[in-house]
Amino acid sequence: MRILVVMGTRPEAIKLAPVVAALRRRKGFRTLICATAQHRELLDQVLRLFRLKPDFDLDLMRPGQTPDAVAKRVVASLGPLLARVKPDMVVVQGDTTTAAAAALSAAERGIPVAHVEAGLRSFDFKDPFPEELNRVFIDTISSLVFPPTPKAKLNLFREKLNGRLSLMTGNTVVDALKSAEGGQAPKHVNPQEVLVTLHRREIHGKPLKRIYTSLLGLVKRHEDLLFVYPVHPNPLILKTAKRMLRHSRIRLLPPLSYPDFLAHLKRSLFVVTDSGGVQEEAVCLGKPVLVVREITERPEVLASGAGRLLGLNPARLERWTTRLLTDPALRRKMSHGRGLYGDGRAAERVAAGIAHWLGRGPRPKEWRA
Ligand code: UDP
Repeated sequence: MRILVVMGTRPEAIKLAPVVAALRRRKGFRTLICATAQHRELLDQVLRLFRLKPDFDLDLMRPGQTPDAVAKRVVASLGPLLARVKPDMVVVQGDTTTAAAAALSAAERGIPVAHVEAGLRSFDFKDPFPEELNRVFIDTISSLVFPPTPKAKLNLFREKLNGRLSLMTGNTVVDALKSAEGGQAPKHVNPQEVLVTLHRREIHGKPLKRIYTSLLGLVKRHEDLLFVYPVHPNPLILKTAKRMLRHSRIRLLPPLSYPDFLAHLKRSLFVVTDSGGVQEEAVCLGKPVLVVREITERPEVLASGAGRLLGLNPARLERWTTRLLTDPALRRKMSHGRGLYGDGRAAERVAAGIAHWLGRGPRPKEWRA
């Protein structure tokens, strides 16, 4: 059986690395990797870490690319590749344009698609764009869907599965996190270190500038506060960050290796982020999360009490940062999300699900058709 795993960005590689490893542990499977390299540097950093060598590299990244241009290039390159390789299944993860375009190419050729991290919904096609659109599209045309949580499973159930098979697995980010822990953060620990990541499309422009002004105001008001911010290489973000965030206690860093990022996360008091993966990791490591987004497709983080959805609202960011800095009891109360995203064996379940679907393994418990 030939499985083609397609990935294009950092979070896909992080969350698919354990799936590739689990599939490669199974006899009778040949698992090939196709990198679209939608994000070149960030993808390569993760591929190196997990010692994954793409069998096919489409190298599609272009400066200033838009989602529709990426989709067009993925479809144009992947179509002929699928016709040549003839995989028995294509595996995609999450909600990127790479994943959606790969699913489309596979479906067009009658190749079944398995979707890892299925069923997440913000219920607003414009936020996040194009991710929500991508998720719904991928889930609709997949033969196999792997929701990470009960909530995601319920979303898929409500949309009627129409013959697709759904197996709840937990999130493979927990598997990845467990295998990548042990990185380095600089030895000196600031008493009030807070990790920041901000990069989503929704925040670009004015909202980002307002949030940066808040971060500056906060370090001025709290003399022990240190923001550590590995900045996404997107030029729109990087330029604004370098221009606006000039302060000795706002440390702008290049993208960190995954283990080093986790080391910083572990020693932070809490996290300010608009990233999906970072929310999940923070919760797994018992860190409170302030989510700088208007809408979330990860309501579990909020329901667990570990996260707060602040909107793109500087005043709320200032209020909540100050509360968390000054109230250890609140921090403790918001540190109880461990286990929310599974037990670190999600990838094994994904591999078992795929094997069964392809007639090469027993039926995993909890199938839902
Ligand atoms: N990450 C990393 N180094 C960094 C910043 C983030 O390895 O400097 C990891 C992080 O741990 C998480 C993933 O990248 O697993 C999140 O990626 P991103 O924010 O690009 O995507 P999103 O989660 O928003 O889809």
